[in-house]
Amino acid sequence: MTIADLLASFDAARAGAEMHGLMEELFPVPRSITGDGLRATLKRVAGAVPLTLHEVPTGTPVFDWTVPREWNLRDAYVADPSGRRWIDARRSTLHVVGYSIPVRARLSLAELRPHLHALPEHPTRVPFRTSYYRETWGFCLSQQQLDRLPDGEYEVVIDATLADGSLTYGEWLHEGERREEILISTHCCHPALANDNLSGIALATALGKRLARCRTRYSYRFLFIPGTIGSITWLARNQGTARRIAHGLVVVCVGDAGRLTYKKTRRGDAELDRVVAHVLRESRKDHEVVEFFPWGYDERQYSSPGFNLPVGSLSRTPHGKYPEYHTSADDLAFVRPESLADSLATYLEILAVLEGNQRYRSTNPKCEPQLGKRGLYRAVGGQPGMPEELPLLWMLNLADGQHTLLEVAERARLPFADVRRAADALVAAGLLVEDGSR
Ligand code: ZN
Repeated sequence: MTIADLLASFDAARAGAEMHGLMEELFPVPRSITGDGLRATLKRVAGAVPLTLHEVPTGTPVFDWTVPREWNLRDAYVADPSGRRWIDARRSTLHVVGYSIPVRARLSLAELRPHLHALPEHPTRVPFRTSYYRETWGFCLSQQQLDRLPDGEYEVVIDATLADGSLTYGEWLHEGERREEILISTHCCHPALANDNLSGIALATALGKRLARCRTRYSYRFLFIPGTIGSITWLARNQGTARRIAHGLVVVCVGDAGRLTYKKTRRGDAELDRVVAHVLRESRKDHEVVEFFPWGYDERQYSSPGFNLPVGSLSRTPHGKYPEYHTSADDLAFVRPESLADSLATYLEILAVLEGNQRYRSTNPKCEPQLGKRGLYRAVGGQPGMPEELPLLWMLNLADGQHTLLEVAERARLPFADVRRAADALVAAGLLVEDGSR
């Protein structure tokens, strides 16, 4: 089976339900950039995709960074003297600032206040806050919750450990005919947030599960990593392997109802950039293509000047551009199965074009070969050009070893799949050969 075959039999309703189902399972798992919640998430993904889990010890230097201590949260709350919990991590791990140091104290509301984070502009939402690299602690709550807190003394408990351990990431290599790789990377460190970032985990898992059944030209490397520190750690440990990455996509925010947005590679003119632009254009759906910028997710590590890998990012509404971003409103209801399915289909389309984007040479380059006698051209003359013949004629004309199929499709203003089919028919008729110099 090829990726094109996968697309031909793609069942959007099933794929959407499968991805949303995985998100529902993973939503309550208390994830962070290290720790048991991250491990549990990766183990669940490993049930669908043959991931290897790597553990990198605390203190390992990774370029200018150091693998941090491992954080595990058992319980956290703010309770009044009667024991009533006014803020309770059992309800949502968003209520604790990620990487909070352990705390056990009795504090007045005034003393507690500097450690409380709310969103006055969205009074019903709980914000997502972390402090990975500065030792502090805090709680997040809605403005409404904050306004209701009576004056008085509170028991403040963060029962967590921040200790030497390891950073975990998941990796899977699907071997294709070529050693050149396509990287699919997603972060997996956010707690109870759906679009950012469970949707990325769910899409990469569904994609991997499907690719596992395929014969591919490229090899595919899947990385499920904690954001920033995960890609830095992987790059530090795999500098040689990184050179084999020919194209890469960072999967993030792929489940909201918004249009697809492609963030280009740092180079801006990579083959991947042209492929994605073509697929989005041919979809005839509303979409946006934006230039690279050096913030966002792990694309900025892959695209640092010492690597400069052609890695872009395909999302729906980009991070930070929807008001639910990094708040409790980015929940399971915010992510729609049909959006997940549309995103997955688009990823498959892109991979199908990358897989099929070869150069060809005509075996009969001096004047047009006679197509009629090979059953490739209409039998009755005199009719104006028939649409099904145009891809054949373009393909033959540009089969000089200089043009990739995508370049033929763009020049002919035809969908890639039509040009791909024409090339296959001409190869079958002995009129084209694949150019090895690709
Ligand atoms: Zn995020």
